[in-house]
Amino acid sequence: MSVARFWRETPRRYNLGGSKCTVCGTIYFPPRAVCPECTSHRQSIEKMVPYQLSGEGEVISYTVVHDAAEGFDMQVPYALALVRTPEGPVLTGQVVDIEPSEVRIGLRVRATFRKLREEGASGVIHYGYKFTPLDDATDSAPPREPVGHVPVERAAPTERTTA
Ligand SMILES: [Zn+2]
Repeated sequence: MSVARFWRETPRRYNLGGSKCTVCGTIYFPPRAVCPECTSHRQSIEKMVPYQLSGEGEVISYTVVHDAAEGFDMQVPYALALVRTPEGPVLTGQVVDIEPSEVRIGLRVRATFRKLREEGASGVIHYGYKFTPLDDATDSAPPREPVGHVPVERAAPTERTTA
């Protein structure tokens, strides 16, 4: 079974448990015990609450890796991306289920949690998740710019009287 097929058949799960500072609202992943954003770190102690990231995000940078890190028997080349989540944290992870050459900035992805079999000494993959493209998952996420959609004709502006 190919790696890609394996992932498609694996239930899409993620376990991106971060933390949120209830003082300033900043969200962290991995979770933090204190908030570095707060002027006084002490004020955030015991104010951090668990926060589950949605697992979705957008590729803001990526690189195609041609040499597998030691300890990883993954196929090369593969794409390693920085993914900005809507919650704030930027995650690093491999993008799978897509040709590395097709990964682009702005690609919408979803994290799929995976327990790594081995931790590479290089620490290329940090948290045991990978990203799969969201663009083909139109059932769960409508495209930002619908193609072939006829825009609703706007009503002519009506005159308004201001009091
Ligand atoms: Zn804070």
